[in-house]
Amino acid sequence: MLPTRGYATKGPTSTLEPFSFERRDPGPHDVLIEILYCGICHSDIHQARDEWGGSIYPMVPGHEIVGRVTRVGSQVKRFKTGELAAVGCFVDSCRVCASCKAGLEQYCEVHLVLTYNGTEKDEKTPTYGGYSSQIVVDENYTLKISPKLPLANIAPLLCAGITTYSPLRHFNVGPGQRVGIVGLGGLGHMAVKLAASMGAEVTVFSTSKTKEQDARRLGAHDFVVSLDPKNLDALANRFDFILDAVSAPHDVNAYLNLLRRDGVMAIVGVPAKPLQVQAFSLLLKRRTLAGSIIGGIRETQEMLDYCAANNITSDVEVIPIQQVEAAWERTIKGDVRYRFVIDMQTL
Ligand SMILES: [Zn+2]
Ligand SMILES: [Zn+2]
Repeated sequence: MLPTRGYATKGPTSTLEPFSFERRDPGPHDVLIEILYCGICHSDIHQARDEWGGSIYPMVPGHEIVGRVTRVGSQVKRFKTGELAAVGCFVDSCRVCASCKAGLEQYCEVHLVLTYNGTEKDEKTPTYGGYSSQIVVDENYTLKISPKLPLANIAPLLCAGITTYSPLRHFNVGPGQRVGIVGLGGLGHMAVKLAASMGAEVTVFSTSKTKEQDARRLGAHDFVVSLDPKNLDALANRFDFILDAVSAPHDVNAYLNLLRRDGVMAIVGVPAKPLQVQAFSLLLKRRTLAGSIIGGIRETQEMLDYCAANNITSDVEVIPIQQVEAAWERTIKGDVRYRFVIDMQTL
């Protein structure tokens, strides 16, 4: 076993503290990765505080991981020692169900092995995430990253990037389309960059007028303060696609009504309470309300390659691990532009 250092929380009301644990020795198909940076995702906080239920403690959060390969198993083909590597929200899956066979492991119908707050395939051994010095992952669930982009700025692509890239691709966002992005946070800021790079005309909806300059810098063509219903009414039946990245309570009908006939709104945020949908918001123009979560390994690699080719990364604020609690509090308040990333060398 490999002695490993990290930060863990021992229960829903505990703080993150230094924590020592063991990783498995790399098997024939595994790579051992020294973690260099790990992004802070809002879901780290939800799970650490058991806000979605069923949390496993002690918990080492973190699923936006980039680092360097320090050892490879005897059968590993795609990675060499010294190469960069990345790990996202899951580290294994059943590999045989219809979703896994289709390369859509995120929808695994048997057992998706989450990077943390989950169990290995034995359904007993807890998984520990990226707020740690190193991780052991099967090479088939490990991603390649380009050395030409800054590493800290790549980390958030592993969750925020793929969460927004996947629905933009699945619903065929492209040139000439009008796309709305609701909420300019960690997810939203990636969605703006990606949708604009795909040629769409992007409108950002935000409750905060102060984010207009940022929205335009990130690639938005238009900015709408969503607090005033009149601003939305003026845009009815206008959009081909809307990505809703808001986790706070909000009225989805106000946005559904902005879709043209056969338009699609995809939800990627997770509000705590159920959403209320007016049937007329959907059926009057045959609109679709959809959802999407992260992406499969193949698509995550495609997204990383796309970002490298198009020079797209996340806007980040890099912190030492000792400031993680303060960064969590600021993340809850939305006080970050647009993602915290932990420099794991400070561990
Ligand atoms: Zn995440
Ligand atoms: Zn599966």
